[in-house]
Amino acid sequence: MTTQLEEQTTNVVGARMKRVEDPRMITGAAKYIDDLKLSGMAHVAVLRSPYAHARIRGIDTSRAEAHPDVIDVFTGKDFEHLNPLPCAWQAGGVENFVATPRTLEIDRVTFTGAGVAAVVVETRAAAEDALSLIDVRETCGVLAATAEAIGDRQVRNRGTIGGSLAHADPGADYPTVITALGATVVVQGTGGEREIAADELFTGVFTTALEQGELITAVRVPALGAGVGAAYEKHRHPASGYAAAGVAAVVKVDVGKVTEARIAVGGVTGTPVRATAAEQAMIGIAPADEAAIVAAAGKVAEGLSGAIGDTYATGEYRVHLAQVLAKRALTAAIEAAA
Ligand SMILES: Cc1cc2nc3c(=O)[nH]c(=O)nc-3n(C[C@H](O)[C@H](O)[C@H](O)COP(=O)(O)OP(=O)(O)OC[C@H]3O[C@@H](n4cnc5c(N)ncnc54)[C@H](O)[C@@H]3O)c2cc1C
Repeated sequence: MTTQLEEQTTNVVGARMKRVEDPRMITGAAKYIDDLKLSGMAHVAVLRSPYAHARIRGIDTSRAEAHPDVIDVFTGKDFEHLNPLPCAWQAGGVENFVATPRTLEIDRVTFTGAGVAAVVVETRAAAEDALSLIDVRETCGVLAATAEAIGDRQVRNRGTIGGSLAHADPGADYPTVITALGATVVVQGTGGEREIAADELFTGVFTTALEQGELITAVRVPALGAGVGAAYEKHRHPASGYAAAGVAAVVKVDVGKVTEARIAVGGVTGTPVRATAAEQAMIGIAPADEAAIVAAAGKVAEGLSGAIGDTYATGEYRVHLAQVLAKRALTAAIEAAA
Protein backbone atom coordinates (compact mmCIF):
# COMPACT_ATOMS: atom_id res chain seq x y z
CA MET A 1 0.00 0.00 0.00
CA THR A 2 2.74 2.39 1.02
CA THR A 3 4.74 1.49 -2.10
CA GLN A 4 1.76 2.20 -4.37
CA LEU A 5 1.22 5.61 -2.77
CA GLU A 6 4.89 6.50 -3.06
CA GLU A 7 4.90 5.46 -6.71
CA GLN A 8 1.80 7.54 -7.44
CA THR A 9 3.23 10.58 -5.68
CA THR A 10 6.43 10.30 -7.66
CA ASN A 11 4.49 10.07 -10.90
CA VAL A 12 2.26 13.06 -10.22
CA VAL A 13 4.43 15.66 -8.52
CA GLY A 14 6.20 17.82 -11.08
CA ALA A 15 4.60 15.99 -14.01
CA ARG A 16 2.71 17.81 -16.74
CA MET A 17 -1.01 17.04 -16.55
CA LYS A 18 -3.69 17.54 -19.11
CA ARG A 19 -6.48 19.83 -17.82
CA VAL A 20 -9.85 18.17 -17.91
CA GLU A 21 -12.19 21.19 -17.65
CA ASP A 22 -14.32 22.33 -20.55
CA PRO A 23 -11.92 24.72 -22.37
CA ARG A 24 -14.79 27.23 -22.79
CA MET A 25 -14.98 27.55 -18.99
CA ILE A 26 -11.33 28.56 -18.63
CA THR A 27 -11.18 30.83 -21.69
CA GLY A 28 -14.32 32.85 -20.80
CA ALA A 29 -16.26 31.54 -23.78
CA ALA A 30 -18.85 29.63 -21.73
CA LYS A 31 -22.49 30.70 -21.43
CA TYR A 32 -24.18 31.00 -18.03
CA ILE A 33 -27.86 31.38 -17.14
CA ASP A 34 -27.40 35.16 -16.89
CA ASP A 35 -26.10 35.21 -20.51
CA LEU A 36 -29.25 33.58 -21.87
CA LYS A 37 -31.67 36.11 -23.34
CA LEU A 38 -34.87 34.59 -24.64
CA SER A 39 -37.68 36.64 -26.05
CA GLY A 40 -40.05 37.86 -23.29
CA MET A 41 -37.82 36.46 -20.54
CA ALA A 42 -37.91 38.15 -17.11
CA HIS A 43 -36.33 37.47 -13.71
CA VAL A 44 -38.13 37.21 -10.39
CA ALA A 45 -36.50 38.01 -7.06
CA VAL A 46 -38.24 37.25 -3.76
CA LEU A 47 -37.95 39.40 -0.64
CA ARG A 48 -37.62 37.00 2.29
CA SER A 49 -38.21 37.47 5.99
CA PRO A 50 -35.04 37.58 8.11
CA TYR A 51 -37.24 36.79 11.14
CA ALA A 52 -38.80 33.49 12.14
CA HIS A 53 -41.88 35.09 13.70
CA ALA A 54 -43.24 38.54 12.92
CA ARG A 55 -46.47 40.30 12.06
CA ILE A 56 -46.45 42.30 8.86
CA ARG A 57 -47.88 45.76 9.52
CA GLY A 58 -47.53 46.95 5.94
CA ILE A 59 -45.58 46.50 2.71
CA ASP A 60 -44.78 49.62 0.72
CA THR A 61 -43.91 48.66 -2.86
CA SER A 62 -44.31 52.16 -4.37
CA ARG A 63 -40.57 52.89 -4.72
CA ALA A 64 -39.92 49.55 -6.42
CA GLU A 65 -42.93 50.05 -8.73
CA ALA A 66 -41.61 53.49 -9.75
CA HIS A 67 -38.23 52.02 -10.78
CA PRO A 68 -37.94 52.19 -14.61
CA ASP A 69 -36.56 48.61 -14.96
CA VAL A 70 -39.27 46.98 -12.83
CA ILE A 71 -41.98 45.17 -14.80
CA ASP A 72 -44.21 44.31 -11.83
CA VAL A 73 -44.21 43.93 -8.03
CA PHE A 74 -46.31 41.38 -6.13
CA THR A 75 -47.26 40.88 -2.49
CA GLY A 76 -49.21 38.05 -0.87
CA LYS A 77 -52.50 39.91 -1.40
CA ASP A 78 -52.10 39.50 -5.19
CA PHE A 79 -52.11 35.71 -4.80
CA GLU A 80 -54.66 35.39 -2.00
CA HIS A 81 -57.06 33.52 -4.27
CA LEU A 82 -54.41 30.80 -4.88
CA ASN A 83 -53.80 29.98 -1.20
CA PRO A 84 -53.09 27.43 0.08
CA LEU A 85 -50.96 26.08 -2.72
CA PRO A 86 -51.67 22.46 -3.60
CA CYS A 87 -48.93 20.27 -2.12
CA ALA A 88 -47.97 16.68 -2.62
CA TRP A 89 -47.66 15.97 1.11
CA GLN A 90 -51.25 17.07 1.78
CA ALA A 91 -52.43 14.50 -0.73
CA GLY A 92 -50.24 11.93 1.06
CA GLY A 93 -52.50 12.33 4.10
CA VAL A 94 -49.99 12.69 6.94
CA GLU A 95 -52.04 12.41 10.11
CA ASN A 96 -52.52 15.61 12.17
CA PHE A 97 -50.43 17.64 9.75
CA VAL A 98 -52.12 20.77 8.48
CA ALA A 99 -49.98 22.54 5.89
CA THR A 100 -51.10 25.92 4.61
CA PRO A 101 -48.30 26.88 2.24
CA ARG A 102 -48.66 30.27 0.59
CA THR A 103 -47.00 31.82 -2.40
CA LEU A 104 -46.16 34.94 -0.37
CA GLU A 105 -47.07 35.66 3.25
CA ILE A 106 -49.79 38.24 3.89
CA ASP A 107 -50.15 39.26 7.53
CA ARG A 108 -47.46 37.32 9.36
CA VAL A 109 -44.42 35.12 8.88
CA THR A 110 -43.78 31.92 10.78
CA PHE A 111 -40.35 30.92 9.57
CA THR A 112 -37.10 32.56 8.49
CA GLY A 113 -36.95 32.88 4.73
CA ALA A 114 -40.71 33.11 4.16
CA GLY A 115 -41.41 35.15 1.02
CA VAL A 116 -43.19 38.47 1.60
CA ALA A 117 -42.90 40.22 -1.80
CA ALA A 118 -41.59 39.56 -5.31
CA VAL A 119 -40.36 41.79 -8.12
CA VAL A 120 -40.24 40.99 -11.83
CA VAL A 121 -37.43 42.72 -13.71
CA GLU A 122 -35.61 42.15 -17.00
CA THR A 123 -32.22 41.28 -15.52
CA ARG A 124 -31.40 39.33 -12.42
CA ALA A 125 -29.09 42.02 -11.02
CA ALA A 126 -31.79 44.68 -11.41
CA ALA A 127 -34.29 42.40 -9.66
CA GLU A 128 -31.97 42.12 -6.65
CA ASP A 129 -31.56 45.93 -6.60
CA ALA A 130 -35.32 46.47 -6.76
CA LEU A 131 -35.82 44.31 -3.65
CA SER A 132 -34.00 46.92 -1.56
CA LEU A 133 -36.69 49.46 -2.55
CA ILE A 134 -39.47 47.49 -0.84
CA ASP A 135 -40.21 48.61 2.70
CA VAL A 136 -41.75 46.02 5.06
CA ARG A 137 -42.99 47.25 8.43
CA GLU A 138 -43.54 44.87 11.30
CA THR A 139 -45.86 45.41 14.23
CA CYS A 140 -43.17 44.82 16.82
CA GLY A 141 -39.80 44.15 15.21
CA VAL A 142 -37.99 44.70 18.51
CA LEU A 143 -39.21 41.30 19.77
CA ALA A 144 -37.80 39.52 16.72
CA ALA A 145 -34.54 41.47 17.07
CA THR A 146 -34.37 40.50 20.76
CA ALA A 147 -34.86 36.82 19.90
CA GLU A 148 -31.90 37.09 17.54
CA ALA A 149 -29.71 38.58 20.29
CA ILE A 150 -30.17 35.59 22.63
CA GLY A 151 -27.22 33.26 23.27
CA ASP A 152 -26.33 31.31 20.16
CA ARG A 153 -28.19 29.27 17.57
CA GLN A 154 -28.43 26.13 19.71
CA VAL A 155 -29.81 28.09 22.68
CA ARG A 156 -32.30 29.91 20.47
CA ASN A 157 -33.50 26.64 18.95
CA ARG A 158 -34.26 25.12 22.35
CA GLY A 159 -35.27 28.05 24.59
CA THR A 160 -38.85 29.33 24.76
CA ILE A 161 -40.24 32.75 25.66
CA GLY A 162 -42.37 31.17 28.45
CA GLY A 163 -39.31 29.41 29.87
CA SER A 164 -37.24 32.59 29.73
CA LEU A 165 -39.88 34.64 31.57
CA ALA A 166 -40.60 31.94 34.18
CA HIS A 167 -36.89 31.32 34.76
CA ALA A 168 -36.38 35.09 35.36
CA ASP A 169 -32.63 35.12 34.99
CA PRO A 170 -31.45 38.71 35.72
CA GLY A 171 -29.39 38.66 32.50
CA ALA A 172 -32.22 37.39 30.25
CA ASP A 173 -33.37 39.60 27.41
CA TYR A 174 -37.14 39.01 27.05
CA PRO A 175 -37.99 40.19 30.61
CA THR A 176 -36.41 43.61 29.95
CA VAL A 177 -38.04 44.01 26.56
CA ILE A 178 -41.57 42.97 27.56
CA THR A 179 -41.33 45.29 30.59
CA ALA A 180 -40.58 48.26 28.33
CA LEU A 181 -43.31 47.21 25.88
CA GLY A 182 -45.92 47.09 28.66
CA ALA A 183 -46.79 43.46 27.83
CA THR A 184 -49.11 41.20 29.83
CA VAL A 185 -48.44 37.55 30.58
CA VAL A 186 -51.39 35.14 30.47
CA VAL A 187 -51.11 32.42 33.09
CA GLN A 188 -53.11 29.19 33.44
CA GLY A 189 -53.35 27.38 36.77
CA THR A 190 -55.62 24.76 38.30
CA GLY A 191 -57.83 27.59 39.55
CA GLY A 192 -58.23 29.15 36.09
CA GLU A 193 -56.62 31.85 34.00
CA ARG A 194 -55.22 35.21 35.11
CA GLU A 195 -53.12 37.98 33.64
CA ILE A 196 -49.97 39.51 35.14
CA ALA A 197 -48.50 42.79 33.91
CA ALA A 198 -44.81 42.44 32.98
CA ASP A 199 -44.06 45.18 35.53
CA GLU A 200 -45.35 42.86 38.28
CA LEU A 201 -44.11 39.48 37.01
CA PHE A 202 -40.48 39.65 38.15
CA THR A 203 -40.15 39.77 41.91
CA GLY A 204 -36.48 38.87 42.47
CA VAL A 205 -33.47 36.94 41.17
CA PHE A 206 -34.94 33.80 39.47
CA THR A 207 -38.25 34.59 41.18
CA THR A 208 -41.61 35.54 39.68
CA ALA A 209 -45.22 36.17 40.76
CA LEU A 210 -46.21 32.76 39.30
CA GLU A 211 -47.93 30.48 41.82
CA GLN A 212 -47.14 26.78 42.21
CA GLY A 213 -48.60 24.90 39.21
CA GLU A 214 -49.17 27.96 37.03
CA LEU A 215 -48.02 27.95 33.41
CA ILE A 216 -47.43 30.92 31.12
CA THR A 217 -49.65 30.26 28.10
CA ALA A 218 -49.39 33.56 26.19
CA VAL A 219 -47.66 36.93 26.16
CA ARG A 220 -49.79 39.86 24.97
CA VAL A 221 -47.76 42.72 23.54
CA PRO A 222 -49.54 45.96 22.63
CA ALA A 223 -48.97 46.86 18.96
CA LEU A 224 -46.78 49.91 18.53
CA GLY A 225 -48.96 52.70 17.14
CA ALA A 226 -48.10 55.36 14.57
CA GLY A 227 -45.04 57.41 15.50
CA VAL A 228 -43.88 54.83 18.07
CA GLY A 229 -40.50 53.10 17.83
CA ALA A 230 -38.81 50.51 20.03
CA ALA A 231 -35.27 49.20 20.35
CA TYR A 232 -33.20 46.93 22.61
CA GLU A 233 -29.46 47.25 23.17
CA LYS A 234 -27.35 44.86 25.24
CA HIS A 235 -23.78 44.18 26.28
CA ARG A 236 -23.36 40.43 25.82
CA HIS A 237 -21.47 38.31 28.30
CA PRO A 238 -18.74 36.90 26.01
CA ALA A 239 -19.30 33.29 27.08
CA SER A 240 -23.07 32.91 27.38
CA GLY A 241 -24.50 35.85 25.50
CA TYR A 242 -26.66 36.82 28.51
CA ALA A 243 -26.93 40.58 29.03
CA ALA A 244 -24.34 41.98 31.45
CA ALA A 245 -26.63 44.96 30.94
CA GLY A 246 -29.51 45.50 28.52
CA VAL A 247 -31.78 48.47 27.90
CA ALA A 248 -35.10 48.48 26.05
CA ALA A 249 -36.71 51.76 25.02
CA VAL A 250 -40.11 52.58 23.53
CA VAL A 251 -40.51 56.16 22.32
CA LYS A 252 -43.43 58.06 20.79
CA VAL A 253 -42.64 61.08 18.62
CA ASP A 254 -45.45 63.48 17.76
CA VAL A 255 -45.13 66.78 15.85
CA GLY A 256 -41.37 67.01 16.38
CA LYS A 257 -41.37 66.23 20.13
CA VAL A 258 -41.03 63.07 22.24
CA THR A 259 -44.43 62.65 23.91
CA GLU A 260 -44.06 59.22 25.58
CA ALA A 261 -41.09 57.10 26.70
CA ARG A 262 -40.81 53.74 28.44
CA ILE A 263 -37.34 52.51 29.40
CA ALA A 264 -36.45 49.21 31.12
CA VAL A 265 -32.99 48.16 32.30
CA GLY A 266 -32.05 44.48 32.73
CA GLY A 267 -28.94 42.58 33.77
CA VAL A 268 -27.89 45.19 36.33
CA THR A 269 -30.17 44.41 39.29
CA GLY A 270 -32.11 41.27 40.26
CA THR A 271 -35.11 42.13 38.06
CA PRO A 272 -35.78 44.47 35.12
CA VAL A 273 -36.22 48.03 36.37
CA ARG A 274 -38.28 50.84 34.78
CA ALA A 275 -36.06 53.95 34.55
CA THR A 276 -38.80 56.45 35.39
CA ALA A 277 -36.49 59.47 35.92
CA ALA A 278 -35.00 58.93 32.46
CA GLU A 279 -38.48 58.43 30.98
CA GLN A 280 -39.62 61.79 32.36
CA ALA A 281 -36.46 63.51 31.12
CA MET A 282 -37.27 62.39 27.57
CA ILE A 283 -40.71 64.04 27.45
CA GLY A 284 -40.80 67.20 25.34
CA ILE A 285 -37.31 66.91 23.85
CA ALA A 286 -36.70 67.19 20.11
CA PRO A 287 -35.84 63.76 18.58
CA ALA A 288 -32.55 65.11 17.16
CA ASP A 289 -31.41 66.72 20.45
CA GLU A 290 -28.48 64.41 21.22
CA ALA A 291 -27.41 66.31 24.35
CA ALA A 292 -30.91 65.91 25.83
CA ILE A 293 -30.90 62.17 25.03
CA VAL A 294 -27.48 61.73 26.71
CA ALA A 295 -28.76 63.66 29.77
CA ALA A 296 -31.90 61.46 29.95
CA ALA A 297 -29.81 58.27 29.51
CA GLY A 298 -27.61 59.37 32.43
CA LYS A 299 -30.68 59.30 34.66
CA VAL A 300 -31.17 55.52 34.30
CA ALA A 301 -28.55 55.19 37.05
CA GLU A 302 -31.05 56.68 39.56
CA GLY A 303 -33.20 53.52 39.63
CA LEU A 304 -30.32 51.02 39.83
CA SER A 305 -29.46 50.63 43.50
CA GLY A 306 -28.11 47.21 44.53
CA ALA A 307 -26.41 46.49 41.19
CA ILE A 308 -25.14 42.91 40.85
CA GLY A 309 -21.36 42.40 40.54
CA ASP A 310 -19.45 39.27 39.56
CA THR A 311 -16.06 38.27 38.12
CA TYR A 312 -17.04 39.53 34.67
CA ALA A 313 -18.56 42.91 35.53
CA THR A 314 -18.76 44.88 38.77
CA GLY A 315 -22.04 46.51 39.75
CA GLU A 316 -20.52 49.92 39.06
CA TYR A 317 -19.50 48.87 35.55
CA ARG A 318 -23.00 47.50 34.83
CA VAL A 319 -24.55 50.84 35.86
CA HIS A 320 -22.15 52.61 33.50
CA LEU A 321 -23.07 50.18 30.69
CA ALA A 322 -26.77 50.83 31.32
CA GLN A 323 -26.28 54.56 30.73
CA VAL A 324 -24.33 53.98 27.50
CA LEU A 325 -26.86 51.42 26.25
CA ALA A 326 -29.79 53.68 27.21
CA LYS A 327 -28.46 56.38 24.89
CA ARG A 328 -28.13 53.84 22.05
CA ALA A 329 -31.57 52.32 22.66
CA LEU A 330 -33.28 55.73 22.86
CA THR A 331 -31.60 56.91 19.65
CA ALA A 332 -32.55 53.70 17.82
CA ALA A 333 -36.14 53.86 19.13
CA ILE A 334 -36.47 57.47 17.91
CA GLU A 335 -35.17 56.41 14.48
CA ALA A 336 -37.66 53.54 14.39
CA ALA A 337 -40.47 55.94 15.29
CA ALA A 338 -39.85 58.08 12.19
C1 LIG B 1 -25.59 28.72 27.19
C2 LIG B 1 -26.84 29.55 27.35
C3 LIG B 1 -26.85 30.85 26.90
C4 LIG B 1 -28.00 31.63 27.06
N1 LIG B 1 -27.99 32.92 26.63
C5 LIG B 1 -29.10 33.67 26.78
C6 LIG B 1 -29.12 35.03 26.37
O1 LIG B 1 -28.18 35.56 25.78
N2 LIG B 1 -30.24 35.74 26.58
C7 LIG B 1 -31.35 35.20 27.18
O2 LIG B 1 -32.35 35.89 27.35
N3 LIG B 1 -31.36 33.91 27.57
C8 LIG B 1 -30.27 33.15 27.41
N4 LIG B 1 -30.29 31.84 27.80
C9 LIG B 1 -31.53 31.30 28.39
C10 LIG B 1 -32.33 30.50 27.37
O3 LIG B 1 -32.66 31.33 26.26
C11 LIG B 1 -33.64 29.99 27.98
O4 LIG B 1 -34.54 31.03 28.20
C12 LIG B 1 -33.45 29.31 29.31
O5 LIG B 1 -32.38 28.40 29.24
C13 LIG B 1 -34.74 28.59 29.70
O6 LIG B 1 -34.94 27.54 28.78
P1 LIG B 1 -36.38 27.03 28.35
O7 LIG B 1 -37.10 28.14 27.67
O8 LIG B 1 -36.17 25.78 27.58
O9 LIG B 1 -37.11 26.75 29.72
P2 LIG B 1 -36.91 25.48 30.67
O10 LIG B 1 -35.46 25.24 30.93
O11 LIG B 1 -37.74 24.37 30.13
O12 LIG B 1 -37.60 26.03 31.96
C14 LIG B 1 -37.02 27.01 32.78
C15 LIG B 1 -37.90 27.13 34.02
O13 LIG B 1 -39.14 27.75 33.66
C16 LIG B 1 -40.23 26.87 33.88
N5 LIG B 1 -41.09 27.00 32.69
C17 LIG B 1 -40.78 26.73 31.39
N6 LIG B 1 -41.80 27.10 30.58
C18 LIG B 1 -42.76 27.60 31.39
C19 LIG B 1 -44.05 28.16 31.14
N7 LIG B 1 -44.55 28.27 29.92
N8 LIG B 1 -44.78 28.60 32.22
C20 LIG B 1 -44.28 28.50 33.47
N9 LIG B 1 -43.07 27.97 33.76
C21 LIG B 1 -42.32 27.55 32.74
C22 LIG B 1 -39.63 25.47 34.02
O14 LIG B 1 -40.42 24.66 34.87
C23 LIG B 1 -38.27 25.80 34.67
O15 LIG B 1 -38.42 26.01 36.04
C24 LIG B 1 -29.17 31.06 27.65
C25 LIG B 1 -29.13 29.74 28.09
C26 LIG B 1 -28.01 28.99 27.95
C27 LIG B 1 -28.02 27.55 28.42
